[in-house]
Amino acid sequence: CGIVAYLGHREACPIILKGLRRLEYRGYDSAGVALLNGDLNVFKKKGKVSDLEAYIADKDTHANVGMGHTRWATHGEPNDENAHPHYSTSQRIAIIHNGIIENYAALKTHLQQQGHTFHSDTDTEVFVNLIEEIQKQNACSLEEAVRLALHEVVGAYAIVVLSKDAPNQLIAARKGSPMVIGIGEGEFFIASDATPIIEYTNEVVYVNDYEIVVIRDGQLEIRSKEDVSQTPYIQRLEMEL
Ligand code: GLU
Repeated sequence: CGIVAYLGHREACPIILKGLRRLEYRGYDSAGVALLNGDLNVFKKKGKVSDLEAYIADKDTHANVGMGHTRWATHGEPNDENAHPHYSTSQRIAIIHNGIIENYAALKTHLQQQGHTFHSDTDTEVFVNLIEEIQKQNACSLEEAVRLALHEVVGAYAIVVLSKDAPNQLIAARKGSPMVIGIGEGEFFIASDATPIIEYTNEVVYVNDYEIVVIRDGQLEIRSKEDVSQTPYIQRLEMEL
């Protein structure tokens, strides 16, 4: 299971697919991408990254912001619907997630009562609808909705979130599942480990548990779950490809 995300001046999709291939060694049963270019489009398939590539070959994948995922199923069998990314009910927000949300069943019942609809059997789809519901109720920013959602979920996660209403923005967070940020020249990478990043930059920040990553306006900001700005510790990797 792995995550890759990109925001910058290049085409996001080829960078994400290459990154997913570098994370294949972690094991997975399905793969998918979400691309933000005015629209928020999700393409996902059970099977290998090569199956996903064949599936999107005739699709418009042009975008400078996007994210990709390889799934190792924990909740819901491996199939196209359960593959990530997952949309919120409005399809304006999408999420990728590695880990397990332990209290997803109670959250799901509550969200269904509030009118949210579900298309998969995953714990992850609950997370993205929770973010959408919190944003609606609080009329707040995406990053604030993600931060508040972290207070309600129990479990382990590395997540990246994209919203149609927040173009040119990546929000990410982790607890218990690994996440590293790559800082390039006017471009940013997020991945489960440094292998998808190292060919583009050797400047990385390892995200700590309970931190929220906001990439926006060419800047990286890291905030705590209590909304306190953190100073990112930038490390220089010496790695051979
Ligand atoms: N629990 C999530 C699912 O089953 C994520 C699994 C993973 O880490 O890939 O869809």
